[in-house]
Formats: sequence, structure tokens, C-alpha cells
Amino acid sequence: MEANRVIGVDLGGTKIAAGLVDRSGKVESLREVPTPTSSEEVVVDAICETIAGLVSDEVAAIGLGVPSTIDQASGTAVSSVNIPLTDVPLRTLVGERFGLPCGIDNDGNAAAIAEWQVGAGRGTRHMIMLTLGTGVGGGVVIGGALFREIAELGHVVVVADGPPCQGRCGGRGHLEAVASGNAADRAAEKLWGEGANAELLVGRAEEGDQAAVEALAGIGHLLGAAIGSFVNIFGNELVIVGGGFGVAAFEFLEPSALEIARRETVEPDALPVKIVKAELGALAGLIGAGLNAFEALGAE
Ligand SMILES: [Zn+2]
Repeated sequence: MEANRVIGVDLGGTKIAAGLVDRSGKVESLREVPTPTSSEEVVVDAICETIAGLVSDEVAAIGLGVPSTIDQASGTAVSSVNIPLTDVPLRTLVGERFGLPCGIDNDGNAAAIAEWQVGAGRGTRHMIMLTLGTGVGGGVVIGGALFREIAELGHVVVVADGPPCQGRCGGRGHLEAVASGNAADRAAEKLWGEGANAELLVGRAEEGDQAAVEALAGIGHLLGAAIGSFVNIFGNELVIVGGGFGVAAFEFLEPSALEIARRETVEPDALPVKIVKAELGALAGLIGAGLNAFEALGAE
């Protein structure tokens, strides 16, 4: 019997989203719970509880997208910046608990798989996806295949000795420190004081507030610097910007990001970079985790 449904799980810094995913990437029975962050054990329990509510005879596999560095050989979440998961063999834990084949990938990779196969990157052979949310993640498709080695796209330096990065990252001036939703929160606080956040910043920009538009253009500028570097390394022609903040602020980030990305690209005519908004919105990670589960099934 061919399996047509899997469970996709997107573990985020603030919430866990899970749902049934079919081969075309359609999502049903979406469930969301807040991510507990007090200990590793409660995170793993919360993931399993969310999955348990979706398991049925129809479900053939489980796919996990986690904000962690993944060792694919063992299916282990090796380290994570924004949640307490270190050296957890999640693929085995979850697979054995439910008696189902299980796939695991970094959340940025999962979002990239989804946008590449069923979203804004359909038909492309070279692309990168950047997810601007609590942190900054991403994934790279090279020559028609996902690059599965470590690709911490959010932790490249765009401002040498710049503002400190977040969570467990001790770096400075990383893309995540200057272009994440959290970075936008700080930009809003700088303008309007404590309590102002990225949502307010985007809302004010939409109303035509010049200071808000300029603050977002400034974030876009730094995003463009990173994109220019990525294009020089990977030679990708398409850059997809997703994540909660990335999608909401896209129209304000894109013009300056494109201008700077083109300036930094060594061969702008040979590689005319395009920056587009993610099509699958906040569900990209969940859908990609599901598509990954179908792959895990094929590998059985
Ligand atoms: Zn960092």
C-alpha cells in the first residue's frame, strides 16, 4: 500500500506546529502548542505529545524540522542556539516511541525543501532560502539537491565586531543579530521605547511612517550584504525570504537587500540574483519536514 500521509513537525523557538502532510504538500489537522524551554526533557515530551494527537492508521511516517545542527548519520540534534536541545538522538527517540519511520532535518533545510519542491522555488536547481524569525535559518539547494552539510546561514558575519548574537551563539554581528525578528524588535525599541516590537515596526511602515520604513531598509541593507556573499559562494540565482518576520516585512526589506546583494555579487550579469518572498508562509518548515518524512519512507 502506498502511504499518502505523514506527520510534519516544525519545532520553533516559540511554538511547535504539527500537521498531516500529503505528497503535494497539503496540510491538514494543524496543531500548535507553545515551545517549553525549561529543559530538554520537556521539549521532547511536548514534541511527542503533539505527534500523539495526530497518529492514526493512515500515518506512514514522521518528519521533524528542528532549529539545531543535525548529524544525519545518527539523526541527532547536536546543538541548538535558541532551545535546550544538545546531543539528543531525536530521530531514534521519536521513531521508536511511535513505531514509525522518522526523518529529521534542520528547520531551515526543511523550509528550503518545501519552498523548492512545492513553493516559490519550483523548477529551480540553485537557490537559497533564508528564514527570518526568532533567529535566522536557511537552506541551500545546489545543482538540484539540498546541501545537507552544516549550513548555518544565520551565523555569517555581516558587521565585523557588531552587536552580539543571541542564545548560545557567542559571535558578533551575525546575520541573526541584525536581521532576525528579534533584531527588528530592538530596532522598534530604539525608535519607540520598551515594549515596541517587530510587528509594530512593520505596521508603522505600512502606514507610511518614514522612520519605520528607514529602519526596515537598514535591516534589508545588511540582509543584502549576506545575500551577496551567499551568491558569491553558492552561485544561486534565486533567494527566497521566509520566516514570520521575513514574510511580514518583505516589501520593505527587498529593495535595499537587492541593491546591496547586486553590488556585492562578483558577476552580477552572469548571476542576476532574484529575491522573492516565500509562498508557503509560516507552514514551510512543517511542510518540508513532511516531505522529508516521505523521503525517510522511501529509504526504508
Ligand atoms: Zn550567531
